[in-house]
Amino acid sequence: MSAINPWATSGIKDYERLIKEFGITPLPESYEELMDNKYYRRGLLVGHRDLDKFIAEAKAGKSVAILSGIKPSGIFHIGSMITAEQMIYFQKKFKNAHLYYAIADLEAYVDNGQSLEKSLEIAIENVADMIALGMEPDRALVYRQSGALVVSDLAFIFSDDVTLSMLMDIYGERKISLYFAALVQAGDIFLPQTKPFGGPKPVLVPVGADQDPHIRLARDLADKHRLDLGLIPPSSVYHKLVRSLSGEEKMSKRSPQTMITLSDSKSELKQKIMNAFTGGRATIKEQKELGGEPEKCPVFDLFMYFSKDDAMINKVYYECRSGRRLCGQCKEEALELVEGFMEQHRSRREAAKSEAKSLLIRSAGQVLKPPI
Ligand code: SF4
Repeated sequence: MSAINPWATSGIKDYERLIKEFGITPLPESYEELMDNKYYRRGLLVGHRDLDKFIAEAKAGKSVAILSGIKPSGIFHIGSMITAEQMIYFQKKFKNAHLYYAIADLEAYVDNGQSLEKSLEIAIENVADMIALGMEPDRALVYRQSGALVVSDLAFIFSDDVTLSMLMDIYGERKISLYFAALVQAGDIFLPQTKPFGGPKPVLVPVGADQDPHIRLARDLADKHRLDLGLIPPSSVYHKLVRSLSGEEKMSKRSPQTMITLSDSKSELKQKIMNAFTGGRATIKEQKELGGEPEKCPVFDLFMYFSKDDAMINKVYYECRSGRRLCGQCKEEALELVEGFMEQHRSRREAAKSEAKSLLIRSAGQVLKPPI
């Protein structure tokens, strides 16, 4: 069974091992192409597959696509925000890039027992978040899997390329519905390469590192369908998983009190942040003598995600390490920072809701065509 698993609630302890074991390429230090990407500068991007090839093609002016998706089983949390921000970063960087955002409502139906109607309601919120974060709707296709015949057709074709033992090797023992959901996700990844969307092209998939099994499967499928469908293996770029506020390696929708969502009220944020686990010492005396451990601290992570200013992050880090910073005051500052972001985001999201709704409805008719 694979050491990482996209449906697990536990996180990843050792990214270096992950990179070595699965042949992910580490990102180079001081990579000129990504110096304007705050997640890269802050060490939160852990590796890639063929990102350099994608960037070279995009810079050469070729038509390229950026694709990722969401299971609409809940509102945006920090993890979904990072994926969204990565997609939007590449959409803005390359004017010849089209963004595809898949709403995995079929997966939510089988994995969470959630109706398609409920998924649509949540998807409108999710897409409003995307617009509020800066997605350019004119160069985007947002669609629901349940309305996308193309991706189901592709999943059907791909089901001929895999055996049960191959899928068990990648994902462990699962219900057939989840294996099929994985093939539908492969369908999502190749949607931009189908004839109705302009044919084969470089596609970049920004995702959390736990989603690499889907990318490996998709790249294998591309190799198998190089000749008949002309598929090009997708590129990917991985970010670290977001820690929970209780210090677990992966923030999970299944534990709402330990995750921050983009819909939290000011009082919810206060309660969550002020109760968060920290990398602080047991007493103030020890903290002053030994310094804190920002590497272990989910409050420090909030500065990494929400601050626009690298110098501020360095300041928090060194003040913590040297014992000049105490956790109570630090949490107050983190709360102010996060609430400042959320205040703006809430009003942007409200303003984006009707556009999100019409984008979902408008896109529905565009993805019903057969892929071959
Ligand atoms: Fe975390 Fe801040 Fe405490 Fe350091 S001072 S351990 S960064 S909460």
